[in-house]
Amino acid sequence: MWIKILGSAAGGGFPQWNCGCVLCRGVRERKLSTSARTQCQVAISSGEDWFLLNASPDLRAQIEGTAELQPRAARQSPIAGVLVTGGDLDQVLGLLLLRELHPIRIYATASVRRLLRNHNTFFKMLSQEPGQSLWTDITPGVSFALASPAGSSSALVCRPMALQGGFPAYVGERRASTLLAGQAVLGLVIESNHGGGRLAYFPVVADLDANLTTVLNSCDLLLFDGTFWTDDELIRIQGAGRTARQMGHLPISGPGGSLERLSQLQRPRKIFVHINNTNPILDLNSLECQEVRNAGWEVAEDGWEFKL
Ligand SMILES: [Zn+2]
Repeated sequence: MWIKILGSAAGGGFPQWNCGCVLCRGVRERKLSTSARTQCQVAISSGEDWFLLNASPDLRAQIEGTAELQPRAARQSPIAGVLVTGGDLDQVLGLLLLRELHPIRIYATASVRRLLRNHNTFFKMLSQEPGQSLWTDITPGVSFALASPAGSSSALVCRPMALQGGFPAYVGERRASTLLAGQAVLGLVIESNHGGGRLAYFPVVADLDANLTTVLNSCDLLLFDGTFWTDDELIRIQGAGRTARQMGHLPISGPGGSLERLSQLQRPRKIFVHINNTNPILDLNSLECQEVRNAGWEVAEDGWEFKL
């Protein structure tokens, strides 16, 4: 299995258009040891076909910057499908960028599929022709083989896992009550039935339990929620707002943070993705980045690739 990190930042990217924090200024002015990052996006393949893990608002530029994802003929694409782990705009806006009447398979839970297709009329642009988008319901805990729009299975098998956390902020309480809470946020465990290693893709994690930690420790590569360093990070910068945990993200540092909670992991290579522009680990010279590296973690950058 080939894995490419096309984007490693959280929503807003790095730098973010309306942010002049030390980090965003530092990357704009090239005064920090860091690099600009697009919004979180990963692509995987076991051969010819590529599958996207979510569809970021930066998807068009990410495809154009990645030779493997570019067409090999007129009106062709190696991108066969998209696996959606939630209904956040940062995870689904890119679907609308794939609207040029090209067959594509979209895997999502029934609740997220209903949320997008029934409640957001823009998404009708993906269904202008029969077979343009093949929405395929997935169920947490039930493994499935990734398949092309024509139906041929790839070697990749995915097990979606239900995580804690609710539907996005644009979903009102009344609408959320018509959806299944256990279908709001997924983590993905993916491996090839041709052998090789196992990938864990968990960009949004509100909490960890013993079962999830065991699953993560069975994987070879872990791409994990690195959104915030501290729980009150955004409040400190904005003067108000919600904590990391209230936004559905376990912070990295402090008691109960992911560094502490995942310190027992033995098997996987551990990489933080989905990094918010306020997170000090973005500065390679920061003490926070040093602490993360000392704990055996890496901080993802756009363009990293792996073979498992
Ligand atoms: Zn910033």
